[in-house]
Amino acid sequence: MEPGSRPSGPERPTVIISAAEVGRANRARIVQALADRGPLSRADLARITNVPRATIGSIVKSLLSSGWLEEGQPRPPADGIGKPGTPLWFGRHAGLSGAIHVQPRRVVTAVVNAAGDILSTHRHKIPARTSTEGVVSVILNAAAQEFHHDMDELTGIGLALPAAVDRQTGEVMACTPLPALVGSHLRQRLEDLTQVPTVVEEDVTTLALGQRWFGQARGVDDFAALQIGDGIGAAVMLGGHLLRSRVGLSEIGHTCVDLRGQKCTCGLIGCWETVASNNWLRHTARQLDITTSPKLTPHRLVRLATSGDKAAQGLADMYAINVAVGIANLVQFLALPVLVLHGDIVGGGEYLRSRVEQAVIARTFPAHVSGRVGQLEIQLAHNDADACLLGAAASVLSRTLHIHV
Ligand SMILES: [Zn+2]
Repeated sequence: MEPGSRPSGPERPTVIISAAEVGRANRARIVQALADRGPLSRADLARITNVPRATIGSIVKSLLSSGWLEEGQPRPPADGIGKPGTPLWFGRHAGLSGAIHVQPRRVVTAVVNAAGDILSTHRHKIPARTSTEGVVSVILNAAAQEFHHDMDELTGIGLALPAAVDRQTGEVMACTPLPALVGSHLRQRLEDLTQVPTVVEEDVTTLALGQRWFGQARGVDDFAALQIGDGIGAAVMLGGHLLRSRVGLSEIGHTCVDLRGQKCTCGLIGCWETVASNNWLRHTARQLDITTSPKLTPHRLVRLATSGDKAAQGLADMYAINVAVGIANLVQFLALPVLVLHGDIVGGGEYLRSRVEQAVIARTFPAHVSGRVGQLEIQLAHNDADACLLGAAASVLSRTLHIHV
């Protein structure tokens, strides 16, 4: 039986926890331990999960025979004590997920395995001024082409959208970057086409799931993934679970950081986005006579700053502080030790990262920000280009294995 799948057969009398549920829970703990810290030996798994060694043996046997796991070359145990162990890791074709990332002008598709390897990927253009049905057709055709060969092997399809989606009905409720998608039922259309269960997530949510399964937040239960560029978004994982609202939109970019600030595109005053988005950066760079380029990014700003442009250095410092103010509010409220940054800010490299980190530390209580290395960690995403694709695949794994949801 595949991990997370339901047992078949006649209905049994209701008990508080059935043997099948215990088995499923143990299997999920083993898979999660591997995802968090793998490759691991059977002895490592027993120590980390507290599942009895004999149970580990039988679950691993079934995961090996179904191809979910593969054995590597024996190596010394992680703690240096005892016999060499055989490392277990996900098979190359284990837990295949279809992943789709819809962006304003294109759709990127991929097949991803349980280890987070992208086995195939393609890009498909979305023509400008396309109707709802036109955009949906591009996405469906892209899915059909990418998944054609692996359709029977896919455990699910993950769809990352720049949109708010009704989690019950799958209807796209709001989508500023691609308004044509509003009112569409992409999840249902994909399931009708592929007959594969499909998970739809807002793109920023997939960032947190992708980080937790495959990225820098492997094994980290409390962290936030932030998207900082044209707009600002965040997804938070607390105690190993995504924080989700049952209703409504989560819009951290539109929380107030300046009571006497600028009017935001949303109609409110002093939103975080009014002082930390690309638009603010370009507008301020024009005001300070740094550049009139409408394409100024954090990367270009840091290039100017490191070439000795004093005004650019001042703007980079200001930008870092403005980004940090919103992050500090998040840290003060949720005591998050790790924050992973995605989006255009990543192009600002260590120059910006260190300034943002210092500014966040200056605005938070030390007791709240004790990270793995003894203090709060602001990290730049290593996998930013593929982050939403990996996150879409992670959303399938989470759903299949009942982890992090
Ligand atoms: Zn706003």
